[in-house]
Amino acid sequence: MNILIMGPPGAGKGTQAELIAAAYGIPHISTGDMFREAVAKGTELGKKAQEYMNAGMLVPDEVTIGLIAERLTRSDCERGFLMDGFPRNIKQAEALNNILSDLHKELDFVINIYVPNEILVDRMTGRLTCPECKTVYHRTFQPPRQEGICDKCGASLQQRSDDTAVETVRNRLEVYEKETNPLLDYYQKRNLLVNIDGQQSREQVFASIKAHLGRA
Ligand code: ADP
Ligand code: AMP
Repeated sequence: MNILIMGPPGAGKGTQAELIAAAYGIPHISTGDMFREAVAKGTELGKKAQEYMNAGMLVPDEVTIGLIAERLTRSDCERGFLMDGFPRNIKQAEALNNILSDLHKELDFVINIYVPNEILVDRMTGRLTCPECKTVYHRTFQPPRQEGICDKCGASLQQRSDDTAVETVRNRLEVYEKETNPLLDYYQKRNLLVNIDGQQSREQVFASIKAHLGRA
């Protein structure tokens, strides 16, 4: 099953992606995670991405598209994939069409998680992430059992640098409205869009998604 998960920053894409990937046995491909890993390792890619990420802007398309083109050729995508954070604009969506068609693959579903902006700001500023296993928590809505420690792997939780400044958070929401939101129409026209209310609990959101994806 080849799935995209979309929605504004903070909607719960990463949280749900983790559950979907485990339930359906497909890799969770997150461009944001790939960039954060590159930043942490100090690679050339990381150096290029960091300033855009900290400003709440999109990393240039030529960098991001190349990364995804390579990732989708790996053998773990043979049974399908769940893509989170890509595409983020029309150019990336068209590039994805070409990449998939070269690989003789097509999309099965585009899940859109919708949540109002005022809630998104609280979700992002309270988010904590495990740098090791990437599990996502929230100080209030999804706290770890032991403060600051990942329940799954015991690593120290971190706050993303692009979640600390309210200005960066607001900028990401603006970029989403302008660049990414038009993609919903693009996928609606292709009959791929599944809209999910992201204000439900984590478990209810997952149940709604599963009801659409089926057993697959
Ligand atoms: P995204 O990947 O869309 O940016 P995340 O999955 O990282 O979003 O979630 C953003 C924040 O909101 C995290 O702190 C997460 O724990 C919290 N969160 C995710 N889903 C829910 C939910 N259904 N209800 C409340 N908080 C949630
Ligand atoms: P995310 O983890 O999806 O919230 O992404 C964090 C940041 O990584 C974004 O604010 C962008 O700076 C960058 N990023 C992630 N995915 C993309 C993409 N598809 N295109 C451009 N920039 C991206």
